[in-house]
This record gives sequence, C-alpha cells and structure tokens, in this order.
Amino acid sequence: MKISKAEALQWFTLLSSLPEDQPLTPRQQEIVWAVLAQLESAAEARRDALAAQIPGLKTLAGRTAFVGDEKKFPRGCKSCLFGTGLGAIRRTNKCNLRCPFCYDFGQLHSQEPVGEGLWEIGGTRFYDRDLDLLFSVDKKPSGVCYVYLEPFMEIELYYPVIRRFHQEGVWQHMYTNGTLCTEENLRALADSGLDELRFNLGATDCSDKVIANIALAAKLLPHVGIETPMTRELFDAFLEKKDAILGTGIEFINFAELHLNENNLQNYADESLYCCRGGYISPMISRELTLRMMAIADREGWPVCVQDCSNMTKFARDLHLRAVEGGWFGASSYGLEFPEIPVEAFLPALSDPEVVFAEEEPLPKGYRPTDPVW
Ligand code: SF4
Repeated sequence: MKISKAEALQWFTLLSSLPEDQPLTPRQQEIVWAVLAQLESAAEARRDALAAQIPGLKTLAGRTAFVGDEKKFPRGCKSCLFGTGLGAIRRTNKCNLRCPFCYDFGQLHSQEPVGEGLWEIGGTRFYDRDLDLLFSVDKKPSGVCYVYLEPFMEIELYYPVIRRFHQEGVWQHMYTNGTLCTEENLRALADSGLDELRFNLGATDCSDKVIANIALAAKLLPHVGIETPMTRELFDAFLEKKDAILGTGIEFINFAELHLNENNLQNYADESLYCCRGGYISPMISRELTLRMMAIADREGWPVCVQDCSNMTKFARDLHLRAVEGGWFGASSYGLEFPEIPVEAFLPALSDPEVVFAEEEPLPKGYRPTDPVW
C-alpha cells in the first residue's frame, strides 16, 4: 500500500488517540507498516541525493560507507564488522555528564552496577582473576571494546584487564566523553596496551578542553579518533572548530546515526523521524548531516577517515555477529528498541513539508480511516 501522506497523518493521529492498552488490530498494523515504509523511502531518497554529491564515497564490502584514507579506517570497527563482532565489556555504571542523546537519559543515576570487582564480558560476570580460565576455554575474539557509560569515572580499575587482553593480542578500543582524561591516565592506558581511544565530542559540544585532551591522547596512544552521534548541535559546533579538531592528530571520525529509545525520545520529539528496517528509530536529519559533513571532508581532503556509522551499518554489524556465532540464515539481534511502535512520534514527519512520499495511491476498501470496520 503506497499510502498517501494525508491519509497517513489522519491514521496516525487516530491511532495515537487510542488508549495505550488497546492493541492494534492486524489491519491497523498493516497501516502502520505502510506508513513506516513510506517514511523510510522518503528518508532514503533524501540521503541518496546527498550521497550522489560525494565523489569519493566508498564502502567497505557494502557494510559501511566512508570517505578518506582507508588505511586509517579504525581496526576496532573492522573487528566489529568483519571479525568476531562487537565484543562488549561492561564495567562502569556512572557518568559525569547528562547528554540529551544518551540512551540512558533520565536513568543515568540508576544504572545497575555490574558488581564489586566484576566485569561483564559476553553477558557473563568475571573477576579479572578468571580471565586465564576464559582464555583457556574460549576462542580469542578479534577485538573487544569497553562500553557502558564513562570508563574514566574509575579508569584505574581498567589497567590490569586491558593488560591481560593485550597479552593475548586482542585489539581493544574504548569510548569516552574525554572530560576526565589526564596525561597520567592516558599514559597508563597506553602502557597497559589499549589500542584505540574514541572520543564522544558531541557530549561537550566540542569543548576546547576535550579537543586538547584528544590531542594529548593522540600523542600517547597508538590510535585515536572521534565517535559521536550526529546531531544539529554537533554539526554546527564541529564546523566551527573543525581546524582545531583535525589538528589534534586523530585518524578517524565515526559519525553515528542517532537512534532513539524510550529514554531519549522526548529530547527529539519535534524532529521528523523514520524507522529503519523495522528497528532503530532516528531523526532523518542525523544521517543527512553526516553525509553533508562527509561531502565537506571529501571536497577538502581531510587527513582522516570519516565513517557513516548509520543504522544500516549497525544492521550489517548485527547480521555479521549472528553469522559468526553460527546463527541461522538471516538471524540478527537488530530490532525495535521500543516495546511497541510509538506511532505518535512520527506525527512531526507526517506534517513536515520536506518529507515527500514519492508515490501515493488510494487505500484499498476497508483500510481508509473513514471505513467503519478495521
Ligand atoms: S557522555 Fe556518554 S554515557 Fe555520559 S551522558 Fe553522554 S552519552 Fe551518556
């Protein structure tokens, strides 16, 4: 069904007014999926037009897109997309910031602890003294990354674990907002064997302090880059400080397509959203700004690799992970991050004149908003 935008708006307004505990009928679900497909096509058309303006746009085996020097493509991402997968290690349950795009926005004070002295690796809890056992039993991963809030809140705990993984030759990368970095802790991380440090520059709107810390890290650690969600604020702040940022010595920049969950949706409620392959829900503008930034990077020949870490990259990542885990054909953990499709959240997109449904046709009988039986 190529539902028209006008009828899509009528339907979604109606469905948004239904009581929360009233499940959608199969016919209403068909309407919802028809609208999501139209929105996704509209988003894809806009970004295809932007991508066509980037002569140097390349892909890595069709799994992700980038511009710039392929030799600087982060090895942590290669491990994620082509190796044994993401390999997340969780430890710290606190952060010193409150970013509006954070997946834990509004819940940052109440994140469950992993447990005293414990590390969550592959969903299982370990003491660092258990790592010998783990390495003796399991196949070594091509890479691991330290995720979960802000590791520099207790960075000294990380050194022995990083050292142990380094002894095994496992590539390790870590994410930080960069506000708590010092020469001392960066040097200790380098001495322990951390391979790659990634800064979330959007967390501080590209603060001078964090840019200085990135430059310091780039001197001390083998590989340093930026990984940050792309938002309107980041786009403007980045361009304002572009020369200083590119002068830090970073190798790569991953602009992540912002996706929303129940925690951060309210902060982007006015944006035109779309849903990618029935999974992540994102502001359309996020990936468009990434493509616009990549066009600038390509035109100006930035000395870094700039990656489009989009929802489709995450889709490819999750497919790859299940494939290496021996999952069935097509298995993936990629999916919707809401208990139900939040129809109300798409009303701004359906009222946005810039969102164009390329093809529209009348709804079949029985599917029109005015039809009595649904
Ligand atoms: S720095 Fe990271 S963990 Fe902390 S609030 Fe921002 S996005 Fe969340």
